[in-house]
Amino acid sequence: MKTTTTWQTDQIVWWKGSAINRQSKEFQDLIRRAYRAMFEQNERFRIALMSTRGMKLYHSRGEHNPYKTILTESEYCTVLTEIRDTYNISKNEASMRKKRLYFDMDGVLTDFESALAEQDEQTLKEYVGRYDEIPGLFGQMLPMDGAIDAVRRLSEHYDCYILSTAPWKNPSAWSDKVMWVTRYLDDVFHKRMVITHCKNLCKGDILIDDRGKNGTSEFEGEWIQFGSERFPNWESVLDYLLPVK
Ligand SMILES: [Mg+2]
Repeated sequence: MKTTTTWQTDQIVWWKGSAINRQSKEFQDLIRRAYRAMFEQNERFRIALMSTRGMKLYHSRGEHNPYKTILTESEYCTVLTEIRDTYNISKNEASMRKKRLYFDMDGVLTDFESALAEQDEQTLKEYVGRYDEIPGLFGQMLPMDGAIDAVRRLSEHYDCYILSTAPWKNPSAWSDKVMWVTRYLDDVFHKRMVITHCKNLCKGDILIDDRGKNGTSEFEGEWIQFGSERFPNWESVLDYLLPVK
């Protein structure tokens, strides 16, 4: 069995079954790749290194002789300085952050018809042609088939928010929607809710909405039209949005 210092005799180190000369460019590239991967995957390391911007790095206890150590203090500090100084903060944070995903409510998360079925005849008669003004209606809706499970699965991969519109002439709809979210999906959407008639003003990557109204068709990101031929149900949306395993 080789001892840890055997490499100092032949200057050969091993990586995934391949022999690499300690003094080669290949070895230097491997070290760079390893530190870069740690920088990208370990947030604490990234924050610590980036907090040294503008400073010169030293490694006070490092070995100087490349024939005696697999990483000299000079190599170590050079690699870290390179990674730090070539890191484009805005670009990399954008690529590393989760995409922002908005969910419409009516016809996407909530089943409008299910609440109508709960109304008495008198109410339906009074509000004919303007059912969305029935007080309390929006708190009585049942979740759409598969919606709850779909939201929870998507929330593992996306930065999720509600983006819904409440009827202007039905003030209770605004609070009813908050109550619905609190009741069914508070674990995902707690304080992550936008109610507006101007959905196009919200910054984000994807909006799942059944209609193009209230700014949806002008949304800056991708509009996934729920209920369309392409996305008839939650299964088809999950197939499209979840990463392939
Ligand atoms: Mg809708």
